[in-house]
Amino acid sequence: MKTNFIVDEVKKVGSEVELFGWAETVRDHKKVIFIDLRDRSGVVQLVGNESLRGISCEDVLYIKGLVKKRPDHMINQKIPTGEVEVEVKEFKILSKSEGLPIPIDTDGYEIDEEIRLQYRYLDLRRKRMLSNLIIRHKAIKFIRDFLNERDFLEIETPILTKTTPEGARDFIVPSRLQKGSFYALPQSPQQYKQLLMVAGIERYFQIARCFRDEDPRADRAYGEFTQLDLEMSFVTQEDILVLTEELFTKLVKEIFPNKKMTKSPWPRLSHSQAQEKYQSDKPDLRQDKKDKDELAFVWVIDYPLFTEQSESDYFHGSGKAKYAPSHHMFTAPHPDDIGLLDTSPEKVRGLQHDLVLNGFEVGGGSIRIHDSKIQEKIFELIGFSDAQKGQFNHMLTAFKYGVPPHGGIAPGIDRFLMSVLSESSVRELIPFPASSGGKTAVMQAPSLASPNQLDELGIKIVK
Ligand code: ASP
Repeated sequence: MKTNFIVDEVKKVGSEVELFGWAETVRDHKKVIFIDLRDRSGVVQLVGNESLRGISCEDVLYIKGLVKKRPDHMINQKIPTGEVEVEVKEFKILSKSEGLPIPIDTDGYEIDEEIRLQYRYLDLRRKRMLSNLIIRHKAIKFIRDFLNERDFLEIETPILTKTTPEGARDFIVPSRLQKGSFYALPQSPQQYKQLLMVAGIERYFQIARCFRDEDPRADRAYGEFTQLDLEMSFVTQEDILVLTEELFTKLVKEIFPNKKMTKSPWPRLSHSQAQEKYQSDKPDLRQDKKDKDELAFVWVIDYPLFTEQSESDYFHGSGKAKYAPSHHMFTAPHPDDIGLLDTSPEKVRGLQHDLVLNGFEVGGGSIRIHDSKIQEKIFELIGFSDAQKGQFNHMLTAFKYGVPPHGGIAPGIDRFLMSVLSESSVRELIPFPASSGGKTAVMQAPSLASPNQLDELGIKIVK
């Protein structure tokens, strides 16, 4: 087994070491051959004789060799292992590589994205993509540690489930056991996290995959994305804002020490202030929009509970009622505005909070309704039929058995990192994203189901 990464192993100047990795470059100087051997940690220069001649770029190698200090004039200051080289004593080509279909020694932006995604396993060899994966890992690790210290439990919720209305179109999965019935993939774990509060968990989080069949945009991957899903019982909106702000402030300090926050504590704007002052509910409050190291977080609160419903409100589908929830239908109305639900619902404020970073919405959440009467009233205002209400009976039933006041938030991980790293698309942060045309990376799903599979599901394809 390989026990050490290259950059650590070659610190042992004067010793014989064993190295494993890829031949990044091969330079043939006739009698001497130089190879840069790469693994996840970096590269080191190998020197050997003509016996290395059969090696080509991206071949996978085992090397036994002597770590030697380079003469002063040969030192390469640009790489961490630049003071040494490894004299090859023995080697084995563990696997040969053909010429790569895409270059991997550039930042990759110049290559057609469909081709990058087709060969994503090669695309991820490039330094920028590896670094993005490492940063993503560190951010998630930081989040887990931070929340663990504050008594949160990380809990998984189902992927095969029932529709969870977040305003997008569902992905549905046919059931074989109950022909004609369908599961939906969760647009978020919203209902489950609320049920976990009824279950007495009090503090929940999940690095949650969410599925939404929406048209792709730069700040939104097609199909699925990851969010930090979080819910707490016995809290006020203030508690959620303070916790989230502390989490992200500390995360930025630890993982992105070069970034500067425009303002701390983060400014808070009411929805109407944001609209009046910036004509946007996602204002970009950076002082210098060209500065890649500036992070302008801002909270937008006091949203109207409802927006006007449009034909495209998929949570609902009928497009007949006047109102649609601004956030989602479980968001609590402001306690001072409850009376207005009967008289002028459009004036009711919701206890919703959106987190905006450099002009991108990176998260949203709310205090939830924990009174089934109010929940039913909201269902009515958004025009739910009895059948539609029936879809959420489990929530109303659960709320009969002692539900704590609760609330939460769900910052998008891909989106947050995209904004912090000033990446051009969330896909640069997702290891295997779907292309903008909706085909998955490498495997190119969706694909056809076999006639047998369709038979078992009782499905006929209409052309
Ligand atoms: N479920 C919401 C969303 O995915 C977040 C929340 O309200 O906590 O946007």
